[in-house]
Amino acid sequence: MSRIAVIGGGVAGLSAAAALAEAGHQVVVFEAEAQLGYHASGRSAAMFDEHYGNETVRALNRFTGPVLDTMGVLSPRGILAVAGAEDIALFKADVEGMGFEPVALDEARALIPILSDRVQFAGLYRGAMDIDTDAVLQGFARAAREKGARVFTDARVTGIRAGWTIVADGAEHEVDMVVNAAGAWADRVAVMADVAPIGLQPYRRSMARLPAPGGHDVRAWPMLFGAGEQWYAKPDAGGWIVSPAEEDAVDPMDAWADDMVLAEGLARYEAHVTEPVTRVETNWAGLRTFAPDRALVIGEEPTSPGFFWLAGQGGYGFQTSAGAAAQLVEAVAARPTALAKALSPARFR
Ligand SMILES: Cc1cc2nc3c(=O)[nH]c(=O)nc-3n(C[C@H](O)[C@H](O)[C@H](O)COP(=O)(O)OP(=O)(O)OC[C@H]3O[C@@H](n4cnc5c(N)ncnc54)[C@H](O)[C@@H]3O)c2cc1C
Repeated sequence: MSRIAVIGGGVAGLSAAAALAEAGHQVVVFEAEAQLGYHASGRSAAMFDEHYGNETVRALNRFTGPVLDTMGVLSPRGILAVAGAEDIALFKADVEGMGFEPVALDEARALIPILSDRVQFAGLYRGAMDIDTDAVLQGFARAAREKGARVFTDARVTGIRAGWTIVADGAEHEVDMVVNAAGAWADRVAVMADVAPIGLQPYRRSMARLPAPGGHDVRAWPMLFGAGEQWYAKPDAGGWIVSPAEEDAVDPMDAWADDMVLAEGLARYEAHVTEPVTRVETNWAGLRTFAPDRALVIGEEPTSPGFFWLAGQGGYGFQTSAGAAAQLVEAVAARPTALAKALSPARFR
């Protein structure tokens, strides 16, 4: 069994720590921020939709669903996709690709009574679930610690020497392997270890929290999805969150919402509902970090034995978490899996 350093205390790093510790490894997690899950993992829309993502991502979704179910962190939500006449092509593509069943407009309005006359098409996918993302992060952290993993916060890794020595918070730690689960910063962490970057690109996505529209009790409403992912909205703790669903390329950073992008996104949403947006209670943004082919990057760096990637979770980090961590455990054990090639960093070398 190996001593393994995991860099990053988001859902990727914590799920990896739990799975590696369970497999008998001696794990230490380094998280730069004072809190676990401070960046992307603290800012998601918290949905599980097994149809979301490309084939490789969907395979990881399928593995992860039952694990999250066993953790007791899933609850039914469903997704209602809607479109005006001008978006019929996007709507048809969603119906084909994302498992929506066309539904009559009166049925759609029975689910979400604020749909405006602009809405001409509606489709429902009942299987989508809400994820209690705090419980996922705490659950993985607890499982890791119970198996002996040490989890350090306020511990930014500032140096990595092959062999491997990790420099964090002024101290040096000797390990046998390194797992790069640094989210938007994963390419930068690689460069620190003298490993070439993959070309991971963080994209900002913003979110606005509104009071429940028209004073409705929104708790049982499904997620509302603008065809072609042009915007979406969903219930959140009695309120209603709306995202412009933008993908604006940015550098790794502590992201914040762009006012103009938020206003344009809220206008797209508003065109499909009868209740105007009168007040935004709060807003935030997070980074969705993708590899060039939009599949995750999991496996050993071919040019640097002992350096493992667990990156490129994009918009799927929670719904792929357990599957991705299981793939990492196999990669560390040098046991090939059916998905190993599609996930390996070697595909970019
Ligand atoms: C608006 C939005 C909506 C989303 N909706 C969903 C959804 O519905 N379902 C879903 O499954 N996913 C969703 N996602 C995606 C999901 O949130 C991410 O894929 C996931 O959180 C990525 O996890 P991570 O651990 O890779 O990254 P992060 O949570 O960003 O964790 C990486 C960590 O590495 C740390 N780090 C970086 N450099 C260093 C260093 N040198 N030393 C130590 N630590 C370091 C950072 O501080 C950070 O905490 C959404 C994302 C956004 C932004």
